[in-house]
Amino acid sequence: MNIRNIAIIAHVDHGKTTLVDQLLKQSGSVRENQHMEERALDSNDLERERGITILAKCTSVEWGETRINIVDTPGHADFGGEVERILSMVDGVVLLVDAAEAVMPQTKFVLSKALKLGLKPIVVINKIDRQDAQPKETLESIFDLFLALEANDYQLDFHVLYASGRQGWAVADLDNDVRKDLSPLFARIVADVPKPKPIEKAGDEFPFTMLVTTLEADPYLGRVLTGRIETGAITVNRQIKALSRDGSVVERARATKLLAFRGLARVPVERAEAGDIIAIAGLQTATVADTLCDITVETPIHANPIDPPTLAMT
Ligand code: GDP
Repeated sequence: MNIRNIAIIAHVDHGKTTLVDQLLKQSGSVRENQHMEERALDSNDLERERGITILAKCTSVEWGETRINIVDTPGHADFGGEVERILSMVDGVVLLVDAAEAVMPQTKFVLSKALKLGLKPIVVINKIDRQDAQPKETLESIFDLFLALEANDYQLDFHVLYASGRQGWAVADLDNDVRKDLSPLFARIVADVPKPKPIEKAGDEFPFTMLVTTLEADPYLGRVLTGRIETGAITVNRQIKALSRDGSVVERARATKLLAFRGLARVPVERAEAGDIIAIAGLQTATVADTLCDITVETPIHANPIDPPTLAMT
């Protein structure tokens, strides 16, 4: 199965949750009449209320022979460092902009992060069904924003789709294309987003390392740490440790549960290896930006050099 790892970036309310729900409904991973949990990605408020920060949810959809992993990103500037860490897990982004509101502060904020990481967005001008939609002006404002953010020529050559996430369609040509489903968007993602880079150090002969991207407290599993495995492989119940950014040992523990993402669900797996995005339970104190690794590893992973250390959150 082919893999694409993407993030959808947007200003709040521009329709990210609705679009992901539709992608799920139209993808192979959800059966026709299966009950769809409403507002799949949108539990952040709840978690904030509980004083827990959970910033990325991973959803995976299947289209033909391709699995598309969609990582949710916060749009808010408060989460600057988090946004960079999350975007460093993906190879492409969909920039979603409301056709009536056009470019907004969070559009600018998250786009600047994506461009700095060298990603070329697929631009989706959304909510075309709105009476007050202004697709042409919105596209111009997006282009101006790319220029203002010093996008390079490769990035300026972005593709544009017009969509109604709510009605579940996307088209490349508003005047001539039939508005039937989201297959133009699925196809664009598969065509434009690079395949995940070949992982050189995957397999049991390499030490396991993973940078923690997000943290959550699960009522059953306790502390759950999510990230993409950088090198090596991990099997359930393996003894691992957590290193802080300065290399000091945060804790040693057993990885009691490994969870992979399928559709909206997280499924337990026995083993995962470099390139996989997984959630690990069993640790007590490790947090965002720590490195989880084999006990023999001494050096933490640094997420990316342009991302200054952010304070760990609990
Ligand atoms: P998010 O904050 O980006 O996740 O946005 P939501 O998906 O929660 O959508 C915000 C609001 O816009 C909700 O009231 C949606 O019903 C509405 N919305 C989402 N997509 C569309 C669309 O394609 N057309 C219209 N007219 N409204 C939409």
